[in-house]
Amino acid sequence: MTRLLPQPWMTTPPALKLMAALGEARFVGGAVRNTLLGKPVTDVDIATPHAPDKVCALLEAADIKAVPTGIAHGTITAVVAGMPFEVTTLRRDVETDGRRAVVSFTRDWALDAQRRDFTMNALYADLSGEVFDSVGGVADLEAGKVRFVGDPVTRIREDYLRILRLFRFHARYGKGPLDGEAVYAAEKEKKGLARLSGERIAKEMLKLLEAENPVLAINAMLQTGILAEVLPCEPDVLRLRRLAAADAAFEFSPDGILRLAALLPREKFMLVAQVLAVRWKLSNVQRDRLIDLAGAPQITPFLTTGDVAKLLYRLGPERFRDRLRLAVAGETRADAQWRTMLEMAENWDRPRFSLTGDDVLAAGVPKGPAVGRILDEVESWWLDNGFTPDTNALHQALQAAIQKVR
Ligand code: ATP
Ligand code: MG
Repeated sequence: MTRLLPQPWMTTPPALKLMAALGEARFVGGAVRNTLLGKPVTDVDIATPHAPDKVCALLEAADIKAVPTGIAHGTITAVVAGMPFEVTTLRRDVETDGRRAVVSFTRDWALDAQRRDFTMNALYADLSGEVFDSVGGVADLEAGKVRFVGDPVTRIREDYLRILRLFRFHARYGKGPLDGEAVYAAEKEKKGLARLSGERIAKEMLKLLEAENPVLAINAMLQTGILAEVLPCEPDVLRLRRLAAADAAFEFSPDGILRLAALLPREKFMLVAQVLAVRWKLSNVQRDRLIDLAGAPQITPFLTTGDVAKLLYRLGPERFRDRLRLAVAGETRADAQWRTMLEMAENWDRPRFSLTGDDVLAAGVPKGPAVGRILDEVESWWLDNGFTPDTNALHQALQAAIQKVR
């Protein structure tokens, strides 16, 4: 029998209160899997044999807030002392169309395990830490085998997202090569990916790219033609490999959008990024960040301190860091220089340019587009002169700029 040692996420007062309110309930999925691996647990999912309306009644009786986030498929979010838990009634999927399922609720734990995607995700644990494993998930987890529960082709046809989840979970938790039977099925069924919404593809792909080292999984997707079903370009796997190595060397936490930027071909980047933003329905923030990275990689290890300061001023520390991380992936032999630049970015305090449009008007320039151009000119001068705080010098530069623009 496998037993989890008591974990902070199991024994916090909110978790204990919720489990007591539900009575019959077990932790399931990522929380159990990650604990067995000694990896951090981010969200806690709970399974229960109670029907959804009973769950609501039990929560209400215990004064716990219930939000019906996915009530149609049996999921209620319980919020205890500000902490959210997803509580899902045991179910089996009676009918599926490759994207979503018609569900029926059950009191049978083994049936619920059958509808989950991979054996390592079909593990349950009760409050005492006892692990319930009806599909051989613990052994697969130890062996680093991402294996479908049941027949891979059947399971993929129920939900084509599972093709991407196969590669994502392998990138995160797999050891050695992928499960041959699973990859064979995924390749055979790859055309079904076209039926998925862009959002679901993006979410899964970005999670895959955020694995410490996604290269083996991406290469497998490339070789089987699965990658081409979701990515409209030739991928630059070498650059992705280098970024993953640089992230490890510099202890950067993996970032999906940056990894994606590394994977896109450098020529035609802008075009591909735009197509992808639409297809994957990226959020505005994600899209803008991706497209922004198409700008020339201005960062090299040979920049002077003054150049770096100018870039930090123009880009701000976040955009500077993004570009730097991509640049590190291109030139890994300049550790010391990169580290100095990173430190500058971390300690960056943006100097304030004190001149305003009013100063330009006061100097006799009439209102109009010239005002902005003169200000830009003086600002550039100020950057070239180490952000000098000398106001006399600044006013001289203003006079010079007025002459120049006139
Ligand atoms: P993490 O949250 O760390 O990515 P997780 O295992 O919690 O990992 P989720 O996507 O949050 O993954 O899903 C929770 C659980 O629900 C999974 O462990 C799995 O049992 C089940 N599950 C999720 N998506 C699917 C799916 N498409 N098909 C079958 N089962 C699924
Ligand atoms: Mg989860």
